Amino acid sequence: MEYKDTLNLPCTDFAMKADLVTREPERLKKWEAAKLYEKIQASRTDAEKFVLHDGPPFANGDVHVGTALNKILKDIIIKYQTLRGKSAPYIPGWDCHGLPIEFKVSQDMRKAGDTSANAATIRKACEAYARKYIDIQRTQFKRLGVLGDWENPYLTLNKEYEADELRLFADIVAKGFVYRGKKPVYWSIPCRTALAEAEVEYHDHVSQSVYVKFGLMDQYQEQNPAQKPTFVLIWTTTPWTLPANLAIAYNSKLEYSLVKVGAEFYWVLSSLVETVAQKCQWQDYQTVETALGDRFLKQIYKHPFCNRNGKLLPGDAFVESSTGTGFVHIAPGHGLDDYNLGRQNGLPIYSPVNDDGALAYSNELPVEQQMPAEMVGKSILEKHGKSDANEAVLHELRVRHALLHQENYHHSYPHCWRSKTPVIFRAMDQWFIKVDHTQDEWKKLFEEVTNKPGWFNSLPMELDFETEKEGGLRVRAMIAVTEEVKWIPDWGSNRIFGAIVSRPDWCISRQRTWGVPIPAFYDANGNAILDAQIVRNAADLIEKHGSNIWFEKSASELWALVKPANWTGAEAVAKSNDTLDVWIDSGSSSRAVLKQRQELQHAGKTGAEVWQADVYLEGSDQHRGWFQSSLLLSLAGNGAAPFKTVLTHGFMVDADREKISKSKQGGYEKPQTAEAYVKKYGADVVRLWVASQDYRSDIVVSEERINKVGETYRGIRNALRYQLSNLYDFDPAKHSVPDEKLTGLDRWILGEFAKLEAEVLAAYDQYEFHVVYQKLSQFIAVELSSVYHDVIKDRLYTDAANSPRRRSTQTALHRLVTGLCQMLAPILAFTADEAWEFIPGKPTGSVHESEFKVVNFQRSEVEEYVWGALFKMRELLLPYLEKSRTAKEIGKSLEAKITIGNPDELFQFDCGPQTANSHLNFSRSNPHPNWDQNIHSHLLKELVNISQLDIKAGHEKEAVVIVSKADGQKCERCWHWETDIGKNLDHSTICGRCIEAVMQFKA
Ligand SMILES: [Zn+2]
Repeated sequence: MEYKDTLNLPCTDFAMKADLVTREPERLKKWEAAKLYEKIQASRTDAEKFVLHDGPPFANGDVHVGTALNKILKDIIIKYQTLRGKSAPYIPGWDCHGLPIEFKVSQDMRKAGDTSANAATIRKACEAYARKYIDIQRTQFKRLGVLGDWENPYLTLNKEYEADELRLFADIVAKGFVYRGKKPVYWSIPCRTALAEAEVEYHDHVSQSVYVKFGLMDQYQEQNPAQKPTFVLIWTTTPWTLPANLAIAYNSKLEYSLVKVGAEFYWVLSSLVETVAQKCQWQDYQTVETALGDRFLKQIYKHPFCNRNGKLLPGDAFVESSTGTGFVHIAPGHGLDDYNLGRQNGLPIYSPVNDDGALAYSNELPVEQQMPAEMVGKSILEKHGKSDANEAVLHELRVRHALLHQENYHHSYPHCWRSKTPVIFRAMDQWFIKVDHTQDEWKKLFEEVTNKPGWFNSLPMELDFETEKEGGLRVRAMIAVTEEVKWIPDWGSNRIFGAIVSRPDWCISRQRTWGVPIPAFYDANGNAILDAQIVRNAADLIEKHGSNIWFEKSASELWALVKPANWTGAEAVAKSNDTLDVWIDSGSSSRAVLKQRQELQHAGKTGAEVWQADVYLEGSDQHRGWFQSSLLLSLAGNGAAPFKTVLTHGFMVDADREKISKSKQGGYEKPQTAEAYVKKYGADVVRLWVASQDYRSDIVVSEERINKVGETYRGIRNALRYQLSNLYDFDPAKHSVPDEKLTGLDRWILGEFAKLEAEVLAAYDQYEFHVVYQKLSQFIAVELSSVYHDVIKDRLYTDAANSPRRRSTQTALHRLVTGLCQMLAPILAFTADEAWEFIPGKPTGSVHESEFKVVNFQRSEVEEYVWGALFKMRELLLPYLEKSRTAKEIGKSLEAKITIGNPDELFQFDCGPQTANSHLNFSRSNPHPNWDQNIHSHLLKELVNISQLDIKAGHEKEAVVIVSKADGQKCERCWHWETDIGKNLDHSTICGRCIEAVMQFKA
């Protein structure tokens, strides 16, 4: 008989080589064939609900690695909640309308020579384009291991979605939030559309900075005859807005100086005189008078090149002393401060610019008061840093000797996110949501909250207390942010708060084709008709036919279809061609998804809690975007915030900390699609890498980091494989050993595992996945791989297969591998499920169907103390063994015998909770109550993996630790050195323990 055939050597089909790139797609097919997602949902029908509501990515292009990060984080949360027994459905969504698609589609059509396309044709092409990318992205998201209802996602282009979006809009119209106004909005010249705040990016820009003099008029000159001719100096970086100048603002509380330069007199803010003098190269100047700004009240000036006069107006709120001249040129049609000041003073909102971004006459002023004819038609759009409009204005100023200085000015300036060109600010007729509009039902809440001591003090900015008490949607949103919603990390609260506090009214109309139509009409006088009932009727129509009907039917046909039966207002003669801001699309998902989908309702809850999502999770740019649009729309239309908790993640950045952005022009330097990484490393390594990073800050993408995570992955896989390979003959139903009969070593690892389990679950609950990663990888590398797995080899391989000691260890391994697969499953979605298949007696087909039940494995203080001590002793002894091996005194550690001469001197340490007996006492006269010489030295021998250990209790004179060759002979089967070898003549080359095992093997 070959003794080695009687060993219980490890054996498993769970492969050592991961080969994720091939294996994962096979598993995906298996999940789909088994309808895994549907099965999980069906098994949780009565469970507590957990809803993570998906922020819809844009249906354009391949899945970017940053979008993959977002989806993986969401999937980790959902898989974890499912594992904890909750019903956590995942309804993915896509944002389908908007400029990038329309831009691309129109471009392609033009390239193909089709310039005649009408709105309906463009829209059909846009839909096809969006659907194509939804399919591509769906495949890529699934490939990442993300489970969800992929066949029934929510799409903002679905007619049902569009209809619900319009119904929410109708409610907001009915409550009086929506108004039409002429107001400066961001305007992208190449895209010919108004832009939302979130569609504007700030980039460095070089503008033309000019100092221009405006002559004060007769009234002033009459009062000050000695000072003729007198001017106020203004400074601007947008010369093209000078034709729209209607006023000049000053600060009434600051001091101004009248400076004499040559024969002319200039008013300049006193603190800026020196700077201005330097810029304008005044060689010789003297201050002849100083005065506070309020002396300019009611003064009149003459426009330098238009045939009209303007007023000097106090603008203390924004005229400051750090730059410029102390006088601010005011064009109410081209700036927000300008607009507000103009409104307060009854000025027309004059914007002499057309949709093409060219200077043009406007109806607000008589033509003879407007710009010189030669300026009309000049384009504002810059080419190579210059624009025709700026040049025309500068030329006019030079001719009239009104330009004192001109230079390049470097600053951060808003640009169109799509065309990357500088935007202009331009007043237009648009639809707005009034952010400060209020509702009666909010009054009580405002009273309660604003009376709370410290509520306003704790805010990051100063607010007008009286106004806030009667506040509107803005204050309602501020209360939701601070009192009702949890923000993780908590700085998210300040970020969205800041965005809401300072935001202007929401311009919601776009002059685009690919979007949800605003169902408004115009009467014969050109007055707009927007009515909640008409919007609701339009919603019903669109739910039936899709929103293309709005673009296909004529105004009169549509009017006939949606006009309310009891309509008494003006008759419509034209329809609106505006579409809703795409942020209204995605921001309406509270109505169109959360309140609509049956599987997202929280049974047993009341009020808004029935439909409110538990979690929203998006990148930190969404405080200005989706978080905010969702919050404002839901508060106004549904009466409550759409979310309870909002999580934010950072962005993917490359090694130079440069944001890897999807909108970066000119393609990527290296592939930044999720697919490129998945094809190289496999989805599980990408998922593990996502989990390993603290996503609350920006995440650095580098091959080096992913490779490092790849090593951790191999460590985890090897540990799982080791455990599975020793369970091939273990049937938990038959062979499981009860807790109290497990060996001390197995009880030790299960005790440590229970502690790990508590820490890992807490980290998952706190959404701290990098902590989960650290705890799990550390435990697997240290406690398991370098200690436990190493120590138990001997008993697993050489004990009789059915020996209580081996079955005890298998019981522990079975529990460990089951628990590990479950704890890893939210992150290593594929690998954990693959390993799960090999677990004997697994409770469910897939790990993702299983429920994690916390087992409270507890050991007594005494037991923990003894095992703590044993492991400390092991740590102390291993270096002696290593030294002996290096000196070639012994080969394998099993050849060694360790004699400890003076244990009291060696084992001086604090271990475990028994502080009263903080170290073990081995003296014969006073033995430690928890130390049994026979039992514990035997255990220690196993932990150190040597053949013999002799602890000479008491104070011997000998050296503390002696490593020597073990006594006896080497057992042929287990390689232990034993003194009983040769005593049994039938088995003369093996030890007594092995004879027992061999006998049992025969039987
Ligand atoms: Zn043996």
